[in-house]
Amino acid sequence: MAPTLFISDLHLSKDRPALVQAFHAFTHGPARDAAALYVIGDLFDTWVGDDQLRQALPTGVAASFADLAASGTRIYFQRGNRDFVLGERFARASGGTLLADEVVHDLYGTPTLIMHGDQLCTDDVDYQRFRAYWRDPVRQRRTLALPYFVRQGLAILFRAMSRRATADKPPVIMDVNADAVAAAMRVHRVSRMIHGHTHRPARHELVVDGRKCERYVLADWYKAASYLRVDSDSVTPSGFEVAA
Ligand code: MN
Repeated sequence: MAPTLFISDLHLSKDRPALVQAFHAFTHGPARDAAALYVIGDLFDTWVGDDQLRQALPTGVAASFADLAASGTRIYFQRGNRDFVLGERFARASGGTLLADEVVHDLYGTPTLIMHGDQLCTDDVDYQRFRAYWRDPVRQRRTLALPYFVRQGLAILFRAMSRRATADKPPVIMDVNADAVAAAMRVHRVSRMIHGHTHRPARHELVVDGRKCERYVLADWYKAASYLRVDSDSVTPSGFEVAA
């Protein structure tokens, strides 16, 4: 059976052309053989609204996805913390479907909870406050109505604020909270979860209410074009190097 691939935390930006090239190599390479591709957040380093499709880089990315979709691979998107206003227009241009922040999809018989993962970092109280504030739909609609250059300015400001805040935070605060992980498994009644965000690729085992559970964390794309390959009998981290 054709595999399902997961990617996240590419952080595509025009400052890193080799990374963008690796992305196109991925959609024209390994992703072609997949039944489905899940892009679960932080595809772009910054996203200020779907009118960013006026730029060459995102237009090329959407075209590459659309090509892949036309070849028969289903594509799903989730928003990350960097691209939390990624919208329907981008998903449509890419031939994909925008998913809710947390979904359970059946993968070869195993219900799997899929999310970006920033919502699990509950020890980072400042970030969760920021997240709750900006995920408010009314506030988001109002902000998206601002002129493009204003939103670009906001994005730069947010990045600077976040960089300053994370510089002072111990690394453990920016990892997932164990209770939040267990709670998510419990609420969604799953024994498998896949997420990204922390840039700490791993497979973790845990027990929730006596149930053996597993949590897969995706790798970022800073050094390698990384993806998680899921099929009926295995879950395998894969990838290829990004040229320097
Ligand atoms: Mn993230």
